[in-house]
Amino acid sequence: MPQVCPISECIDLHIHSTASDGSFSVSQIIEAAKNLGLRAISITDHDTLEGSLEALSHPQSPSLEILSGIELSADFPSGTMHILGYMLRVDDSAFLKMLERIQLARSERNLRIVKKLQALGIDVEYDEVIEASGGGQVGRPHFAQVLISRGVVQSAEEAFSKYLRKGRPGYANRYRLKPAEAIEAISQAGGVPVLAHPFTLEPASEGALEEIVVELKANGLKGIEVYCPDPNLERRARYEKLVRRYGLLMTGGTDFHGAAKPDVHLGVGKGDLRIPYSLVENLKACRS
Ligand SMILES: [Zn+2]
Ligand SMILES: [Zn+2]
Repeated sequence: MPQVCPISECIDLHIHSTASDGSFSVSQIIEAAKNLGLRAISITDHDTLEGSLEALSHPQSPSLEILSGIELSADFPSGTMHILGYMLRVDDSAFLKMLERIQLARSERNLRIVKKLQALGIDVEYDEVIEASGGGQVGRPHFAQVLISRGVVQSAEEAFSKYLRKGRPGYANRYRLKPAEAIEAISQAGGVPVLAHPFTLEPASEGALEEIVVELKANGLKGIEVYCPDPNLERRARYEKLVRRYGLLMTGGTDFHGAAKPDVHLGVGKGDLRIPYSLVENLKACRS
């Protein structure tokens, strides 16, 4: 795996905009990517194609390639499973209908979080949370913002660890696709499904992760996000080994969220991440 590539040959295929829980608008992301000199990006908002749609309708620059993208949440017993989808048709009506169903479930879940926080004696109104989202999709990071602004907690981390994380009193579960459904939906829309940041699955062992990957591959998974802003290079090497063993693709991205994750920067993660453009060529070859 090449360790260093010039930034003009680098990519970032995991970026959140204000269409989900990022703090940069799509235009700001595109400007920042151009200023940095990245060669390709993908905006992969949670359960919505709005960010990608906007990026693709933006005046295209010959130096910056934009791939359509999305990040779907999948139901998984431990940890968090996210499936990225790349180069999918952004006007696929079945896919858009499925996203609508997910958005409805999200709104319903958010109302339950408001009720739970209120029951804990915290004075929170849903309107405030909507305002914190800046008009984009409302998610738990926006609840965290409101809890900070109300002085209930000092940081987003505290908001999650005290109230919003799974198992905490302000947590409400929501409908999620099964992993196989997420993979199939992306494939049906012409996209390439990829397992995002495998460490958030919190696998009990290397073998447990391998079993998950084998099952996902049987369901149509095409790749693993090997490059992410994780200082644990041993872990990255393990993912790379899995990719090679099972004939999968490697992808990479910073999971940039702007102010919500201030130590992670566009394109370079915590500073030293360099993701080569060759991964985009492999993605394209897989799709065609
Ligand atoms: Zn994710
Ligand atoms: Zn993400």
